Amino acid sequence: MTRVTLPPKATVVVVGAGYAGLSAALALLDEDVDVLVLEGSDRVGGRVLSEQVDGDLVVDHGGQWVGPTQTRFLAAAERFGCATFPTYNSGDHLELWADGVCRPFRGAGPDDAPGVDAYVAAADVIDEMAATIDLDDPTAHPRLAEWDSETVQSYVDRTVADEDARLRLALAVQGVWTVEPRDISVFHLLFYVASAGGFDQLMETEGCAQERRFTAGAQSVALAIAGHLGDRVVLGAPVRHVETLDGGGVRVDTERGEILADHVVIAASPGAAVRIRFTPPLPQSRNRWMERTPMGDVAKIHTVYDTPFWRADGHSGEATAYGDNAVGVVFDNSPDDGSAGVLVSFVYADRQHRWATLSEQERRADVLATLTAIFGARAGNPLQYLEKIWPDDAWAHGGYAANPAPGVWTEHGATGWRAACGPVHWAGTETSSVWNGYVDGAIASGQRAAAEITTALRS
Ligand SMILES: Cc1cc2nc3c(=O)[nH]c(=O)nc-3n(C[C@H](O)[C@H](O)[C@H](O)COP(=O)(O)OP(=O)(O)OC[C@H]3O[C@@H](n4cnc5c(N)ncnc54)[C@H](O)[C@@H]3O)c2cc1C
Repeated sequence: MTRVTLPPKATVVVVGAGYAGLSAALALLDEDVDVLVLEGSDRVGGRVLSEQVDGDLVVDHGGQWVGPTQTRFLAAAERFGCATFPTYNSGDHLELWADGVCRPFRGAGPDDAPGVDAYVAAADVIDEMAATIDLDDPTAHPRLAEWDSETVQSYVDRTVADEDARLRLALAVQGVWTVEPRDISVFHLLFYVASAGGFDQLMETEGCAQERRFTAGAQSVALAIAGHLGDRVVLGAPVRHVETLDGGGVRVDTERGEILADHVVIAASPGAAVRIRFTPPLPQSRNRWMERTPMGDVAKIHTVYDTPFWRADGHSGEATAYGDNAVGVVFDNSPDDGSAGVLVSFVYADRQHRWATLSEQERRADVLATLTAIFGARAGNPLQYLEKIWPDDAWAHGGYAANPAPGVWTEHGATGWRAACGPVHWAGTETSSVWNGYVDGAIASGQRAAAEITTALRS
């Protein structure tokens, strides 16, 4: 990753060294294809960013968890010897309800809390509907236009009578999609649930998406893949312009010079890809797909304590907060050996918009007030407070992922979602049929784009 000047030509140029781009390049290199990765920022990993704080303590500001059905991420970790450990999940979770009452719970919510049964029933219906979607050809669904023209907000208002269950569903949408229920269509919600293998896969810990964490941080696998790729990864090389050439192939312009290639993989988020200029212009469906698929809004805040003190009180460290709190969900993010206590708090969607307008001091006070209400006074006095506001990230422009607006799947999905435009191929988690929005989906998308190219190169 020390290369200063670009070579004049590579068979394949990959734009972006997140998990999608690195996985595309790895799959191509495994097939002996000459590949070069151009990364705009000064690091690899994209929306996965691990920071070493104080000695061995690592915090993950972006993607962090891996679950048992996320087999591509686990396989990459195994190939490069990156260890994982189970998310701490013993004891009771806590729920701070809108009335200020804090109740312990396991599973979907406290037995004696309002709206839990109706929430579970609504989730079951969502699973049944999601199971009817063909993940490789989602826009072929006979109810696409109907489901894609209704927002999740309108659907929940229409079908869930219990007001408290509606609050629970709203937090689930904020927590998983980092948007409000008004922002996405029923179809996108169902597609996303289907791509994960069910609603619980998205929500739960054991056996599900939040099951394990990486000992050296979730970026460790990306760093290992980049190490394997060596000087085939160039940092600080933002791609500004991709020109498809009449005689075949592409010219890729970066701030570090230009390079010719037979194929290019754009492995940047829609929020970043839409800022790249294409000549000739991309097909309208692809442009509209990117323009109308905005990034979600999330901030992640770590508070560090000398011990995970909540464990001694019989608490798991996992909590949900309703009402006016900026924080929506909290998890125990302590290291495997419990040598320090770490809580990670998530602030999403409209809550994030309001919270982000506060001063740094006010934001901190707001988060600590919620943690104190849930875990007691000790939570209000962390040794360290670290925040990462993803909409401010110059390369990701938001997170966790991008969500097509209602109607976009119907009108532009068939070709705009991920169909290659000549030698221009599309990767990135948003183009994945499996675990869309997750690292595993990013890896799957990179492998699919690589397969498109190796097939083309052999023909
Ligand atoms: C707060 C947060 C929590 C999350 N939690 C989880 C989790 O626990 N588990 C999970 O699986 N997923 C999680 N995710 C989602 C996961 O991080 C993403 O799905 C995944 O990292 C996306 O990878 P990608 O390669 O598709 O895109 P990115 O990671 O966005 O990579 C794109 C790369 O392209 C680069 N780039 C952009 N524009 C250009 C340009 N013009 N020229 C060159 N390079 C460019 C960017 O700098 C970036 O490195 C989370 C995300 C966030 C933000």
